[in-house]
Amino acid sequence: MIVYEFKVKAKQLQYQAIDEAIRTAQFVRNKCLRYWMDGQNVTRAELYRYNTKLRSEFPFVKDLNSHATQASVERCWSAIARFFDNCKKRVRNSEVSSECKTNSRQQIPGKKGYPRFKKNTRSVEYKTSGWKLLDPKHIKFTDKKGIGKLKLIGTWDLAFYPKDKIKRVRLVRRADGYYCQFCISVDVKEALPPTHQTIGLDVGLKEFYTDSMGKAEPNPRFYRQGEEQLKFHQRRVSRKKKGSTNRKKAINKLGRKHLKISRQREEHAKRLARCVVQSNDLVAYEDLRIKNLVKNHCLAKSINDAGWYQFRKWLEYFGVKMRRVTVAVHPAYTSQNCSNCGAVVKKSLSTRTHICACGCRLNRDENAAINILNRALGTTGHVGTWILDPNASGDLSPTITGSPCNSKIGL
Ligand SMILES: [Zn+2]
Repeated sequence: MIVYEFKVKAKQLQYQAIDEAIRTAQFVRNKCLRYWMDGQNVTRAELYRYNTKLRSEFPFVKDLNSHATQASVERCWSAIARFFDNCKKRVRNSEVSSECKTNSRQQIPGKKGYPRFKKNTRSVEYKTSGWKLLDPKHIKFTDKKGIGKLKLIGTWDLAFYPKDKIKRVRLVRRADGYYCQFCISVDVKEALPPTHQTIGLDVGLKEFYTDSMGKAEPNPRFYRQGEEQLKFHQRRVSRKKKGSTNRKKAINKLGRKHLKISRQREEHAKRLARCVVQSNDLVAYEDLRIKNLVKNHCLAKSINDAGWYQFRKWLEYFGVKMRRVTVAVHPAYTSQNCSNCGAVVKKSLSTRTHICACGCRLNRDENAAINILNRALGTTGHVGTWILDPNASGDLSPTITGSPCNSKIGL
């Protein structure tokens, strides 16, 4: 699945129509959520039926394409499903799993994520109906919201793919305008010769990442710069009177800044990830979601968070595309264990060098990166975070005695 995004050019009235469609999509989602909360054991099918009822009850819901309202129901359902899923996995707020107590079942820290009402939805999603591609640069929305014909600005070539491969069309509102996304269901693969290289990555605060060869990739300058600019614009917003036009303008400026920075980061993450995947057959990295919650809770709010997330996303994307193996390993003790002999060498966050009794002397992050790579090589085949999967560990646990943590992920 690939997503092509275009900027949309249209008249003011059409933008208002898009806003109205987005509002309707949000209305349907929230109504469904309310229905689920009030009812008992509401199923997905019941939500679909409720959607039909909404359509007959509210004319403005009926105006939106029927598959688009269905897509809103699905959004609502996926929020509910995620909540149930988290409950099943027994996600907990406390930091139980950092110690890996001898619980028979794995517990993952984090919130359960009870679904919430949305008040600032930014997009509406159409499926395969309700729109028509007039030519590769124009799209017409045919439902009764009155969006009409939109001009698409961008260099992607939609004509390259058969029209039935376009599975979803999304209209997105951002601080600097409106965008149209096309989700195209195609398998893009790049055939590359094997490189006979493997790599482990340790993402950090000081460097963007350090790899198992000892190479450090620095944080780009715009990370800090962007942070300062955001603060500046944030202050401007807070000084303006609530509800005033000037405040609105300031909020828009802040939004644009956010957009600019997130685009820069996305580009950076994408470029790096492509490089790494291209030159290695196996890429190992920590499961950062857990790392942030378990390992260094107080640092989790770091400016790097978003960057890491994007980086990992692109690593996995390119991994699939270029047929390379990407492994997310459990982050426990990667920086404390010695990569040479496996002994535990305790060190605080400020200790930058790893010195072990066995004679191993490495940069702290390089040591961690080697551990990550070793752990990946040891667990691949049970790819990724298998240790956290309750089913997988449930099947295995009877055969393992002692602390589940040490016996499963020890080196
Ligand atoms: Zn050692």
